[in-house]
Amino acid sequence: MVNQSPKPEPLTARVAVHPIHDLLEYLVPENLREKVQPGTLVRVPLGKRENPGLVIELGAASGRKELRPILEVFREDPVINSELLELLRWAAGYYLAPLSSLVELALPPGLENPPPGEPRTHLFRIAEGLDPDKLLAQVQPSAPVQAEILQQLASSRELSLSDLPPERRTQYLRALREMKRKGWVRGFYREEELLAGAGVKELTSDQEKALAAIEAGLRAGIFETHLLFGVTASGKTEIYLRAAARALDAQKGVIILVPEIALVPQIAGRFRASFGAKVGVLHSGLPRRERIDSWVRIQTGQAPLVIGTRSAVFAPLPAPGLIVVDEEYDEAYKQEEGVRYNARDLAIVRGKLTGATVILGSATPALESFANAAAGKYHLLTLPSRVDGRTLPPVTVVDLRAANLGSDWTKNPLSPFLKERIAAHQKEGGKVILFLNRRGYSNSVLCQDCGQAIRCPNCSVSLILHKARKILLCHYCGFSIPPPDVCPACNSHRVRMFGVGTERIEEEMTRDFPGLSFRRLDRDTAHRIGAPARILRDFAAGGVEMLMGTKMVTKGHDFPGVSLVGVVLADLSLDLPDFRAAERTFELLAQVAGRAGRGEHPGEVVVQTFLPDHYAIDLARAQDYPAFYRAELESRKKFFYPPFSRLVQFLVSGVNAQKVEESSERLKEELEGKLTGGTTKPGKAVQVLGPAPAAYAKIRGRHRFQILIKYPPDFRIQAPLAKILELHPHRQLAAGVTFSVDIDPQSLL
Ligand code: ADP
Ligand code: ZN
Ligand code: ZN
Repeated sequence: MVNQSPKPEPLTARVAVHPIHDLLEYLVPENLREKVQPGTLVRVPLGKRENPGLVIELGAASGRKELRPILEVFREDPVINSELLELLRWAAGYYLAPLSSLVELALPPGLENPPPGEPRTHLFRIAEGLDPDKLLAQVQPSAPVQAEILQQLASSRELSLSDLPPERRTQYLRALREMKRKGWVRGFYREEELLAGAGVKELTSDQEKALAAIEAGLRAGIFETHLLFGVTASGKTEIYLRAAARALDAQKGVIILVPEIALVPQIAGRFRASFGAKVGVLHSGLPRRERIDSWVRIQTGQAPLVIGTRSAVFAPLPAPGLIVVDEEYDEAYKQEEGVRYNARDLAIVRGKLTGATVILGSATPALESFANAAAGKYHLLTLPSRVDGRTLPPVTVVDLRAANLGSDWTKNPLSPFLKERIAAHQKEGGKVILFLNRRGYSNSVLCQDCGQAIRCPNCSVSLILHKARKILLCHYCGFSIPPPDVCPACNSHRVRMFGVGTERIEEEMTRDFPGLSFRRLDRDTAHRIGAPARILRDFAAGGVEMLMGTKMVTKGHDFPGVSLVGVVLADLSLDLPDFRAAERTFELLAQVAGRAGRGEHPGEVVVQTFLPDHYAIDLARAQDYPAFYRAELESRKKFFYPPFSRLVQFLVSGVNAQKVEESSERLKEELEGKLTGGTTKPGKAVQVLGPAPAAYAKIRGRHRFQILIKYPPDFRIQAPLAKILELHPHRQLAAGVTFSVDIDPQSLL
């Protein structure tokens, strides 16, 4: 008799299926046994539908219930390796979020079914290291268009499809395709990258020291976090470049995170100049097809150097050895909906899980980060001065109370001094950045008879005039009405605009500086894919003399020609009822000031404010981060805020205000029962504060109450909170009343 091998035990898989909270169990059919592993992307039945899902773990069938089978495996190999899966699990536990939501963040939408064909490229350059003149000599006489293209590329270095005459597009595209096939030119998606020269030859001695410390950790292959505290234009990016080269040499992957999509083109250009095709870009602004393509190049090891925003912390690199978080203080690293994760913090966790080196870079570190460095948890590396002996630009504070503005700032938002400086810099050929953290034309429209501001019916905020679009717009829900001639409350004709926004400043500039060429960069001008990159490109290229706009103009950019930075109103972020208001203000001012004087021109900064004596503004003027850190730390200690405590915020919302309040009260009792044993002890115990109406008490028709938990940093809050959340699996407290949980909230608004 031949031995019959025993029939294998039935195998099951636990699968994360968005948006289901718990993992679902499926049977692994015989024919898929070889392929189904943790991290495999599969198709599973869910009710009457079929969904993509990610296999998390395998097990033997419990036999308790009839299981439905996995239907299909989408890609040959697991799309998420065990290291990344470990990170997703950790994050799900820490942020008290469904694992399926984290899987959703880590995979590009549509990965299971990518559209066929090649992603479209829109911008062409000569491949790195090739010389257009030499290529020209190789062109066949029968290919005149190729020769023409090479000539153009030799003079302009890049060719954008949108610049081509439409009647020659097909001809050009055919030639470009052929040149791409030969490896002569490279195509890029839209405005993904700005051109940059190769890196600098010699590091300063401060840079050398910092790099040496980073390299030591990289060589040892052990987890270590460095806080690279370097003033603006001290050459931090240069250190990232060198550290990345070391990691790649050691066959390790690199992730470079920047806080905003608008910052990607410039930094990607700098890395591309050194690392060519090894660079892969990953962010949510990429068109779907391009994003999948980029993700696959990263996952398969073709692009071991990833540049991206927040969610690129989940980049599927086979073996990350270096993770850089540039401008680590930036609140944009925190996702404010869905899974409320902080990519900076997860970068450190990922580093720990894989034994990677982590660099947090900033001129204005988050208070928590600097405190961690002071406590020895991070390794502090300092670049105290700008490269090439350039100095930090002097800052002049214009006191708007005293400045000769006539009676009303709204009428004259730019002081005579600031105007005079703009004119002077324009005359000398310097570039100007003008910053105001508010878009639109005016801040509010107010009736002078009844005193009512025109408010959004859905939200507890004023409507903002957008003059060019002829609407009053709510910046929270998008509600808009035509600007009324009379007050909706009392029919008075004396309705007036107060405050100014970027659109208004644009009008001022056009009127007072007719010869000045400028671009406005804010959410209104940047909503089209590639538009921010184009605006920044125009500014970098030389033709545009001034860039004005919201926070998007303040950060990270390295434009050597900028000699003047003007801040139209520094006070805006100070008025916010948030314990980080002073820190945010200091950061913004120090960052925007840091855009000036990065080239040959010595720079200059002018800050307009009604609060010149506030310590955040005064210390930003002095550009003294250590002094600001000390002052701010005092106040955090006094009020038991981070880094002395940690925070969790519950936000309860619903249409019926009374029900929201009642539910919030009940939730608070539950929280107190679990966390404080029924008593709120003073001092260092867990504190459950509220419920209180949120700073924006109503948004999109929903009333909002918040409960804030402050707890000592060594207390493990996840387990008791998870118990409470189990009682409310759908995050629902009553009919129509829901809530969200925010671990380590960045904003309490
Ligand atoms: P940061 O990232 O700190 O703002 P960057 O790395 O962008 O600073 O450097 C600012 C400018 O100084 C860049 O134009 C960069 O090319 C240049 N730079 C950096 N390091 C050096 C160096 N060692 N020598 C000369 N120039 C340098
Ligand atoms: Zn009125
Ligand atoms: Zn609204």
